[in-house]
Amino acid sequence: MAEGGHYDIVILGGGSGGYACALRAAEFGKRVALIEKDKVGGTCLHRGCIPTKALLHAAEVADSSRESGKFGVRTAFEGIEMPAVLSYQQGVVERLWKGLQGTLAGRKVDMIYGDGRLASPTSVTVNGATYTGDHVVLATGSEPRSLPGLALDGERIISSDDALLLDRVPSSVIILGGGVIGVEFASVWRSFGAAVTIVEMAPQLLPLEDEGSAKVLQRVFRRRGIGFELGAPFQSVSYTDTGVAVTLGNGKQLEAELLLVAVGRGPVSAGLGYEENGVAVTRGFVEVNALCQTPVPTISAVGDLVAIPGTAHPQLAHVGFAEGIMVAERLGGLDPRPIDYDGVPRITYSEPEVASVGITAVQAEQRGISVVEVNYPLGGNGKSVILGTQGQAKVIAEAPSVPGGQPGRVLGVHLVGSRVGELIAEAQLIFNWDAEPDDVAALIHPHPTQSEIIGEAHLALAGKPLHFHA
Ligand SMILES: Cc1cc2nc3c(=O)[nH]c(=O)nc-3n(C[C@H](O)[C@H](O)[C@H](O)COP(=O)(O)OP(=O)(O)OC[C@H]3O[C@@H](n4cnc5c(N)ncnc54)[C@H](O)[C@@H]3O)c2cc1C
Repeated sequence: MAEGGHYDIVILGGGSGGYACALRAAEFGKRVALIEKDKVGGTCLHRGCIPTKALLHAAEVADSSRESGKFGVRTAFEGIEMPAVLSYQQGVVERLWKGLQGTLAGRKVDMIYGDGRLASPTSVTVNGATYTGDHVVLATGSEPRSLPGLALDGERIISSDDALLLDRVPSSVIILGGGVIGVEFASVWRSFGAAVTIVEMAPQLLPLEDEGSAKVLQRVFRRRGIGFELGAPFQSVSYTDTGVAVTLGNGKQLEAELLLVAVGRGPVSAGLGYEENGVAVTRGFVEVNALCQTPVPTISAVGDLVAIPGTAHPQLAHVGFAEGIMVAERLGGLDPRPIDYDGVPRITYSEPEVASVGITAVQAEQRGISVVEVNYPLGGNGKSVILGTQGQAKVIAEAPSVPGGQPGRVLGVHLVGSRVGELIAEAQLIFNWDAEPDDVAALIHPHPTQSEIIGEAHLALAGKPLHFHA
């Protein structure tokens, strides 16, 4: 391990944003120091995307074994052995972690392990050593947050970090927050046999998603026995003999073994020397412009840590990757384009999955754009019927500029149903390449696949529906 020294770029934080920046900068021949206080890979690899998706896969296997009779296959679901699930999950994480360490070493990125602090606009101190850089990239990420007066105890009132370490299936759980993380844990625990209730202040689950997608999700969750209280603010929690009792603003009281608090994630920036060195910090978030520059010319910031005034900045691993790459390319002398955050694909990996890219019809209206939309039900799609999933593909596009004309640019694709997350990659190409429904209608989708729902919805929008009746 290096003991202090000078680098082209010093990166503080080795999560998705920080390590992507390091890998891309190394491709330009930059000397890079990547400073990490815990494990490289950060939240996504160790406490986020990867371990939760492993749990969701185990949940899918549990559901398949329970429901196999529907397909004429005799199996018996005997239960969940949580230590074995955790060991499968850990195996996945370790394998990817090893691979990442190898890739960073292969690109000659110097890993510095320890708690770093910004000491000046061009230096970071770690374990008493100083690492200077022509440029410093802040990428210290985020951590679970709670509500005022709601203290996490790690045992009965837990965060997603604690939930991932739980070595048993709880008999019952209340989940505070019906966003992506809350909905994914609800899906896993229900498949594992727990009684689950989600409490959400907004009038729908996944408040940032299309209302129609949320309605389908809610319908399927209800059928799966997942309870939810919508438009219900949290008021207080107390301990009972066996768990917790939660009181809601609407007067209802719920009891369960555990309360998972999934009300969002706050930035990791306190005490790290950011403000002292001229970086603008608002409610803990580092403010950057569309190119991830802070007001200090030698300091950039990426990932969950940042806020871009006037833009809804999603806390997603692939946003961190994209920002890290963009900063590396800027420092490497290229002229990268700012990220279009509307064009970032979003997936909730529950059963059913919810996936989207672009904007909703409501957002289009707020921006003064008139739209046309098509809602293609998965019931008309052969592969979805084979899988036994329900859902829909909604595509919205600019309304034709002349009566009877073709719709303009596709503005949003909103999918819900089993496995639809994989389809959003095609939808993001459509959105980000400014395609019109007629362009997509001309492309052949393989039969029988779920990808046909994308083709069918665009065929219908272009005025030539195939397997579609409104
Ligand atoms: C339960 C859960 C599920 C998720 N699922 C998904 C998903 O499916 N898809 C998706 O796109 N996103 C998902 N996310 C979000 C994703 O994990 C984050 O958006 C992503 O990790 C952000 O990357 P980052 O580099 O900004 O921050 P982080 O990944 O948080 O990395 C920051 C790193 O900085 C280090 N650090 C902090 N302070 C210091 C310091 N002072 N010195 C040295 N090192 C420091 C930390 O140890 C950490 O490794 C999920 C998150 C959670 C919690």
